[in-house]
Amino acid sequence: MLLEVKNLYVDFEGMRGRTEALKNIRFTLEEGEILGIVGESGSGKSITALSILGLLEENAIISNGEIIYNGQNLLHLQKKERQMLRGKEIGMVFQEPMTALHPTMKIGKQLQNCLQRHRNLPAKEAKEAVLQALRDVHIDQPEQVAKKYPFELSGGMRQRIVIALAMSAPPRLLIADEPTTALDVTIQYEILNLIRELNRKRGTSVLLITHDLGVVAKLCSRTIVMYAGEVVESGATKEILHHPAHPYTRSLLDALPDSVPPGEPLKAIAGETPSLLHRPSGCAFASRCRHAMDICKKRHPELTEKASNHYAACWLEGTAVYD
Ligand code: SF4
Repeated sequence: MLLEVKNLYVDFEGMRGRTEALKNIRFTLEEGEILGIVGESGSGKSITALSILGLLEENAIISNGEIIYNGQNLLHLQKKERQMLRGKEIGMVFQEPMTALHPTMKIGKQLQNCLQRHRNLPAKEAKEAVLQALRDVHIDQPEQVAKKYPFELSGGMRQRIVIALAMSAPPRLLIADEPTTALDVTIQYEILNLIRELNRKRGTSVLLITHDLGVVAKLCSRTIVMYAGEVVESGATKEILHHPAHPYTRSLLDALPDSVPPGEPLKAIAGETPSLLHRPSGCAFASRCRHAMDICKKRHPELTEKASNHYAACWLEGTAVYD
């Protein structure tokens, strides 16, 4: 196992009090696996990624838990040691490639700096490695692209460059947080294929964070679904897509554009996520769930096994496709 997140709790101290952003997050990632983390905005997916990367804001408090990467608890490392891991062992790709690139430095120079830092390459070898890194992410005419600035490239090209930078070490783990959200549909498809290809060729493990169940369907062998800072369902992606055990997952599936006939309005999930300043004592989804029962508002459901290796935090029995 490459990564294990155990009972992770993260709070944020603010003017209005303490926000309980993550509650009891648990999951594992195997070597060479692509694991999906799915949920709406505010579900805690990105905070989970930032906790692993050691990039949480100053007012964050990790009140409990462990993040075991390659046998060591990252939460016990010094700031400098975590910095060393980022980029070299753990690569990152975020939603907006412009924020990850230096706006006034040519692409070739940015890649060369990265390669020299992570692989200790002499300048001449680093220059050739830059071209190879660009070819690896299927960039035509790498010599020309290396001489360009980020603003001279399209969004899809910039995201390829960010992936090339993230893979330059190369890392054992790639964390991709909404890597295709800012891109149009055909480019999204190409970027997802590229991530899958790098995973297969190099054996890189990938934590793929997305709001889109269609994306995890394409790439991930296992998926965890997050809601209001908790894992509410986890299991094999196929199982989750065909037999969702949590009404929230069912709602996400119903909200997919393919779920409604052409011309009919898309199904939004009614209601809002609860305030994490004052967590409800029962199920956090209860105010939006049409299966809610008395017990749901009173007692918090824990993640339990509903079918083989398929877990959900819900008082309903078993797994079912709800209509
Ligand atoms: Fe709905 Fe109750 Fe399950 Fe929560 S525990 S998702 S409210 S049925």
